[in-house]
Amino acid sequence: MKKVIRSICNIILVLGILLPTFMSPFVLDVDAADNRTIKSILADIEKQKKELQENKNKQKLTNEQILTIKNNISLISNEITKGQNEIIEINNQIAILENQIEEKDAEMKKVINFLQLSDGESQYLEYIFGATSFTDFIYRVAITEQLTNYNNRLIKEYNELIESNKKHQADIKKKEEELTVKQANLQKEVSKLQYQVTQLGNEQGSLEEGILKSEASVRALIADGCDENETVDACYTRLKTLPSDTSFWRPLFSASITSVWGSRRYWYNGNWVESYHYGLDLGTPERTKVYSVANGTVGDRAYWSGTGYVLYVYHKVNGVKYTSVYEHLCANCYAVSKGQNVTKDTVIAYSGNTGQSTGPHLHLGMLYGWAGIEYSYWDATYYAKLFDPRTVINFPSGYGSFNTRTRNCSLGSC
Ligand SMILES: [Zn+2]
Repeated sequence: MKKVIRSICNIILVLGILLPTFMSPFVLDVDAADNRTIKSILADIEKQKKELQENKNKQKLTNEQILTIKNNISLISNEITKGQNEIIEINNQIAILENQIEEKDAEMKKVINFLQLSDGESQYLEYIFGATSFTDFIYRVAITEQLTNYNNRLIKEYNELIESNKKHQADIKKKEEELTVKQANLQKEVSKLQYQVTQLGNEQGSLEEGILKSEASVRALIADGCDENETVDACYTRLKTLPSDTSFWRPLFSASITSVWGSRRYWYNGNWVESYHYGLDLGTPERTKVYSVANGTVGDRAYWSGTGYVLYVYHKVNGVKYTSVYEHLCANCYAVSKGQNVTKDTVIAYSGNTGQSTGPHLHLGMLYGWAGIEYSYWDATYYAKLFDPRTVINFPSGYGSFNTRTRNCSLGSC
């Protein structure tokens, strides 16, 4: 079932943005400001929803990007640590090499001392004489030379090693510096992206809020009887012109009350049926003009097996919402269309004998609130909202009859 009319109060609550100065459609002092049609508002809502989805996707991607960069930062940290360990390792190696150089240096000094012994003439002679033989002397000189050369070579190699280690160390340090800069840049990038995520989150919040508000507004507008192709301001101008007379009248000029509100037992299809009668039965010939019981807007028109051809009209009388129900109408005898504004003098349909009916009559039901809009048809709430039509409409007592449409002056002004 489609919804036609709805409380303007809802709109006042949710339409803050669309209609900031709007008070009530029935007593409008100011025109609604929005000149978009409901259709275009719905399209705008779709756009916003798309935007929201894009925003969420973007946020997800940005978060993934942040994760990737953070992984990179952690990899770089590992690399830096590795480099620092390597530098320590190289330092150790250099220390070992320097020790070795010292050792070799000491050895060399010894050898040089030895050579110096044989350097000057006297020492040389002393050495010569010190040698047990010339062969011994030659041998000593040869060994000394070999040792010196060997140590020299070693020291040179060690020094070269130290040099290359130091170079390697310098390379690592340079790389470490580069990595630190890279890490800092990545960290900056992370901060930037995190800021973007926060911004996107904020945008999401306002988008979601806007969508909710707009959707609630549109629901309320449609419920109030605004057409999809009607602009908001036009709809409110129309609603503003709703008849202001507010009281209930009998739906027929003449009828006999054949069944009243409450428990009853009746003969139907060869059986006694025990039931609760949720309305008032007004016996009247088929095709009798049925009037709206008050000013209002036409709701759903339908055929249901129990009610036969049925029609709903929504009212607001002295600020209270009501629904009137007209059942067992003749087949397709509606005189009004859904969403149409009616007065108590509008012929809305013609009576009949359709549905679960034992004779030509109009079943009149009354509900608090707007059935089919604020709650479903024929559910527990629906039955709870039904009340005796005599509460608001002036009918003769018991099973009396009448031949005039009388208004109930206890509600509204007469
Ligand atoms: Zn009835």
